[in-house]
Amino acid sequence: MTKHVTKHIIITGGVVSSLGKGLTTACIGALLEARGLRIRIQKFDPYINVDAGTMNPFQHGEVFVTVDGGETDLDLGHYERYVSAPFSRNNNITSGRIYRDVIAKERKGAYLGGCVQVVPHITNEIKANIRQWDGPEVDVVLSELGGTAGDIEGAAFLEAFRQFVYEHGRDNCIFLHLTLVPYLRASGELKTKPTQQSVGILRQIGIQPDMLVCRTEKPITQEMRDKIAMFCNVEKKHVFEERDVENTIYELPQVLHDEGLDDAIISRLGLPAGSQNLGPWQEVVHTVTNPTGTVDVAVVGKYVELKDAYKSVYESIDHAGIANKVEVKIHRINAEELTDENVGKRLRGMSGILVPGGFGERGIEGKISAVRFARENKIPYYGLCLGMQIAVIDFARNVAGMDDANSSEFSRETKHPVISLLKDQRDVKNMGGTMRLGAQPCKLIEGTIARAAYGTEMIQERHRHRYEFNNDFRGQLTERGLVISGVNPELDLVEIVELKDHPFFVGVQFHPEFQSKPLKPHPLFTAWVKASVDRSRSQ
Ligand code: GLN
Repeated sequence: MTKHVTKHIIITGGVVSSLGKGLTTACIGALLEARGLRIRIQKFDPYINVDAGTMNPFQHGEVFVTVDGGETDLDLGHYERYVSAPFSRNNNITSGRIYRDVIAKERKGAYLGGCVQVVPHITNEIKANIRQWDGPEVDVVLSELGGTAGDIEGAAFLEAFRQFVYEHGRDNCIFLHLTLVPYLRASGELKTKPTQQSVGILRQIGIQPDMLVCRTEKPITQEMRDKIAMFCNVEKKHVFEERDVENTIYELPQVLHDEGLDDAIISRLGLPAGSQNLGPWQEVVHTVTNPTGTVDVAVVGKYVELKDAYKSVYESIDHAGIANKVEVKIHRINAEELTDENVGKRLRGMSGILVPGGFGERGIEGKISAVRFARENKIPYYGLCLGMQIAVIDFARNVAGMDDANSSEFSRETKHPVISLLKDQRDVKNMGGTMRLGAQPCKLIEGTIARAAYGTEMIQERHRHRYEFNNDFRGQLTERGLVISGVNPELDLVEIVELKDHPFFVGVQFHPEFQSKPLKPHPLFTAWVKASVDRSRSQ
């Protein structure tokens, strides 16, 4: 019997950023899994942050949270949505983390008096991470490198990848480069020069891409493919087109399959793959392109200008649309512009309202106006993390008569800190990695909306927050009608609040958006969209 060798695909990007490298990587993973292969996907990020936890979503997009509480790049979210392979904090490796680990070893004296350098110490540490999943349980590892070929901060990673492929065997590895073939409207032509130059940068450092995936808005002719192949020194059959999808990103696995990408990967790496079954993806695309109706919902947040800041929330809403066979039109509303006076006008026509997670005081009062409007007008409301805390503040102020109720995150003086810090959070000095993070159990109470939606008593959901429902106010608030429908059984923390006499009013302290997938929509999102559809049809 031949020895099992874990194969590697290394994905780099060229020409410009935001080419959709994460999505393409995720789709390649989905195509390989659909052929019965066992994969892992990891992301290498050249930034110096040890993890994404301290990064502002406005600059860098959402912070995605893994089961084990890793605060990671949002590309991990794409991966998790498309594949069933497991993920943890170890699937996102930053320069900061590599340097931290090397410096820790140096302090321990592990380098035996050597001068610690980028080559070989940093590159060796990167290589150890590239091969961290190798073994009989894994057929293919996909490693995506953040940034663009030619970035100074990515240099050590590219050198490590080059060395890794040299050692692991060229036949066991694929360098796949995602590039842009821009269309010049004025001259009406596609241009290959940026691709040639970007491949040139890789070749200068000794990396010859094996496959090119070309992002383009127009079809690439055979002649043009031949030209790209010739000047980039890549086989003609290894130049693939990735045209902008027409309707939904869920078409992408099929698009790449039709281009022959998974067949090419399998034959190049000699993988023992089964036949392709993209039936479930085709069904998703069919549902998205043939909705039975539409529904308008509002997402009231602070970072609404930037789509990536609430990436998983928007994706989860789309998944719930698929589950309900409707198109959900998401209206992104800036919370800072909302007041009790204008909220009725600004949210007119919305059949559902969602307040996502967030930090800091900006926009808080506008979010409270939105939740109050949803509560009083019986519009399906769904609050995520901060959105749950806001719902509790509104209830305390406007139903339970605690006029100054607030979270101690926003007011230290309030006599009614209905949301506050637990003791262990009060002493926290370092901001990185110190929140309540990762999957925790939650027990659902019989007869509630949450229990009905999940259809089970015990669930696990992911957290990322410091503040909690203050148990000192539990009695007072429940007496006035607030329903506590989910509790952490070990810590006795309130995880879900609801209202009776309302079609759907649910706030969750956790982040359900990190577990929703197009092939497995999240039950609470699905229930909220269903309630929103019911409302829109009854109006
Ligand atoms: N700022 C709130 C807290 O820290 C909510 C966090 C969130 O929404 N992720 O508890």
